[in-house]
Amino acid sequence: MNLDKHYDAIIIGAGPAGLSAGIYLSRAKMKTLVLSEGTVGGQMILTHEIANYPGVESISGYQLATIMKKQAKSFGCDIKSNISLNKLDLDGKLKSVSLSDGSLYTSYSIILAPGGRSRTLNVPGEDIFRGKGISYCATCDGDFFTGKEIVVVGGGNSALEEAVSLTKYASKVTIVHQFDHFQAFEHAINEARSNPKISFILESAITEFHGTESLRSVNIKNIRTGEIRNFPVDGTFIFIGYLPNTEFLKGRIDLNQSGEIIVNNDMSTGKKGVYAAGDSIAKRFRQITTAVSDGTIAALAASEYLNKLKKDEKQLISN
Ligand SMILES: Cc1cc2nc3c(=O)[nH]c(=O)nc-3n(C[C@H](O)[C@H](O)[C@H](O)COP(=O)(O)OP(=O)(O)OC[C@H]3O[C@@H](n4cnc5c(N)ncnc54)[C@H](O)[C@@H]3O)c2cc1C
Repeated sequence: MNLDKHYDAIIIGAGPAGLSAGIYLSRAKMKTLVLSEGTVGGQMILTHEIANYPGVESISGYQLATIMKKQAKSFGCDIKSNISLNKLDLDGKLKSVSLSDGSLYTSYSIILAPGGRSRTLNVPGEDIFRGKGISYCATCDGDFFTGKEIVVVGGGNSALEEAVSLTKYASKVTIVHQFDHFQAFEHAINEARSNPKISFILESAITEFHGTESLRSVNIKNIRTGEIRNFPVDGTFIFIGYLPNTEFLKGRIDLNQSGEIIVNNDMSTGKKGVYAAGDSIAKRFRQITTAVSDGTIAALAASEYLNKLKKDEKQLISN
């Protein structure tokens, strides 16, 4: 076995879940490697201001990611970013990960933390005004729209519940939904309908975002008549679904119908030595704090597993 390429644990993903797991495992003296397809930090680096991470009043996502990375490295954690996974073997005691550049890494434990992404509308202007008026997270960005007029896109539970929560900040919330009915629980629909700050534009879709430095208006098309009107807004929140980055795990690990990784309370999956953490697992709330918590639990459980494995091996040798 090439010891340079063998680790106690390999973590897939360098968002807050993966980096927290890296901090805990390497501090527990486990030889740990974090592999990430993107840059270190995951979705955190898409956030210009994080104001809800306890202990830090306000910080940019990039800065928080840089601190987490530095902290993990200070305990000896190896981190490789911008890699491309080629093959993953999660079965058996010895797991392996091969990369497109031909390198192969082995470990006794793997933590999957590939995160996820919000479904996008894919219309002109969305890429330009993402983070400049367009958001996919009410908990993260709602406060920035205090006293402003916003649009919420979607007709499911998330859209209606988040629209209600956004009325704490915004002066006016308009829900734009493609159908004439909602795909949400009765109580969520009733709550939205009875809120005086919320109005509805149904059977309609946003077809374009406009602005200069930040978002100023949206084009809304009536799907039945085809009529398009320009609607002035300060912000738009899009809640049309969430996609976990688990395509590469299909057939390798238990996923639910939405493609989320199914885990137990200790973040273990159905495979021995394989754990999962963060936005890619089946759960209701997706935040940096929850990802950090999942990563911590997964690392502690993996440490326990690795310690037991090492103890069993020592006993085997001494017998
Ligand atoms: C615009 C925006 C603003 C937000 N603002 C806040 C906020 O203010 N406060 C808050 O608490 N939360 C906020 N969130 C949510 C928060 O960022 C996420 O909940 C959190 O980052 C999830 O962490 P994670 O580690 O599970 O996944 P991610 O952050 O998604 O990281 C996943 C990592 O895995 C890597 N990866 C993916 N697939 C593969 C693969 N196949 N192989 C290898 N690596 C892979 C990615 O490159 C990335 O490094 C925001 C999210 C967005 C999109």
